[in-house]
Amino acid sequence: MFTSIAGRAVVVTGGTRGIGKGIAAVFAGAGARVLVTGRDEAAAGTAADEVGAAGYVAADVSHKADCEKVATAAAERLGGLDVLCANAGVFPSARLGDLAEDDIDRVLGVNLKGTILTVQACLPLLRASGHGRVILTSSITGPVTGYPGWTHYGASKAGQLGFMRTAAIELARDGITVNAVLPGNIMTEGLAGLGDDYVNGMTAAIPMRRLGTVEEIGHTVLFLATDEAGYITGQTIVVDGGQTLPESPEAVS
Ligand code: NAP
Repeated sequence: MFTSIAGRAVVVTGGTRGIGKGIAAVFAGAGARVLVTGRDEAAAGTAADEVGAAGYVAADVSHKADCEKVATAAAERLGGLDVLCANAGVFPSARLGDLAEDDIDRVLGVNLKGTILTVQACLPLLRASGHGRVILTSSITGPVTGYPGWTHYGASKAGQLGFMRTAAIELARDGITVNAVLPGNIMTEGLAGLGDDYVNGMTAAIPMRRLGTVEEIGHTVLFLATDEAGYITGQTIVVDGGQTLPESPEAVS
């Protein structure tokens, strides 16, 4: 039995759809007070209503001032911050030969720089919490696997783990843990946008023969936020239905 996280103050960046919305729903369902963020204010308001969040704030994680705005909103509306889910991310596809400098800047700016800026802005609140938790949404792509079109994305997701390991050391004495979930292929609005061929190909490569749900990521994140997970830091949990296990196509035939 885990200690309840009811009443804890939680921020989920990119919580307006997809995995972030799933994380927000799981935390709100467990009685936590959740603030969701995203760039689209109207979508953020709708998502907050749908998941029973305490509030929302429009913010772009690639801008330092916006990350500070999120921390200020957590202080004012939640009275502090216990759990930061740094989830916002983008995954546009472009082969290495076609990759423009702007593509690289955007993906690294949102996924990697955005993660660092978000955690940095929230540090004073997490320190004050006494049991601060940072949970990053990384990916199997980059840290474990590769996929054509995602050199920049894979670099950003592997980069998050490099950030995580040193942040975990720096923040350990403040009682803050920093961990990451590595989703496989999870059915979200963003992933659906990659098309049926992508989804069907991935389903065939997953031993469980289905994509994951956003709630399955949410429950993993919830575990890492518990008091009972307080001695786990700088670690990763792969949530992929076994997708990274097969040695060959025969293994999943
Ligand atoms: P999604 O459905 O496209 O949702 C992305 C969320 O991030 C939205 O709320 C979006 O809201 C927000 N966002 C995007 N750019 C932002 C920015 N610059 N600042 C603030 N918020 C921003 O994507 P998803 O599939 O749920 O993916 C969420 C995270 O999981 C990403 O980090 C992704 O890399 C990771 N992931 C996903 C999968 C998967 O299979 N789906 C697998 C591995 C890892 P706005 O557009 O309104 O800003």
